[in-house]
Amino acid sequence: MLTCQQATRLLSEAQDRKLRLKEQWPLKLHLLICSGCDHFRQQMDFLRQACRRYSVAPPNAGDAE
Ligand SMILES: [Zn+2]
Repeated sequence: MLTCQQATRLLSEAQDRKLRLKEQWPLKLHLLICSGCDHFRQQMDFLRQACRRYSVAPPNAGDAE
C-alpha cells in the first residue's frame, strides 16, 4: 500500500511521464481510499487543463489528442 507521500509523488511524476501499470494500480487504489490524495489529483488535473488552455506554445503541443 502506498503512503500519501508516495501517492502524491506518483501523481506529480504522471504529469511528466507515463506511469507503469504496477505504479498505476496502487495509485488508483490509494485514491479510492484517500480523499486527500484524490483531491490533490483533481487539483493537478485542473491546473494541467488551465495550463494547456492558456499557454501559448506548450513544448509537447500536438503530442496528445
Ligand atoms: Zn493519500
